[in-house]
Amino acid sequence: MSAVTGDTGGLPPAAVGADPRPLQGEPLCLDLLNTRWIDGGTRHDLLRDTGGLGLWLAGRGLADAATPAALEATLHAREALEAAVTDPRDPRARELLNAVLAHGRVRRSLGPDGPAEHAEADDPAWRPAWLAADDYLHLLRTAPDRIRACANDDCILHFYDVSKNGTRRWCSMAGCGNRAKASRHYARTRRTAPQEDRTQ
Ligand SMILES: [Zn+2]
Repeated sequence: MSAVTGDTGGLPPAAVGADPRPLQGEPLCLDLLNTRWIDGGTRHDLLRDTGGLGLWLAGRGLADAATPAALEATLHAREALEAAVTDPRDPRARELLNAVLAHGRVRRSLGPDGPAEHAEADDPAWRPAWLAADDYLHLLRTAPDRIRACANDDCILHFYDVSKNGTRRWCSMAGCGNRAKASRHYARTRRTAPQEDRTQ
């Protein structure tokens, strides 16, 4: 989908390209976690209202309307995912995630083109939340060790490391990666500074 062609998939044009988040395009479950970020010491939350939820849904191609019920459900899923990603063995995290997963299921059938799968939620408001929770199960089945938090302690973003060597450490090289490089350089120059300089 491109904003240039005006193809907005039935959503208001203003919603396309207006997503202010620094990291986008991660798998759905991590993309939901990335609706919160810290920029210059300030915490931001895209999901503080239904307008922000609308932006998030538009960016993910989810056609559901951004209702207060959908916002509440999606925040439940985000809380569950945050707990699970922080400590996958935490029983409370499993409980929270399973409560979200209880709102949907995958219906399998044989379609004209072969086997088909269709995600169903018990309430349209729970569909994005359920899809995000289900996506987390998919990542766990595929490569759980590639689910990472940015190595910058001051950053709360998450990503799925699809690099060949699996050595990605930062949400972005331009942001946190560069800052880490700069502070390593600063530490090095401090260490090698003459003795008298350290007393200053
Ligand atoms: Zn980061």
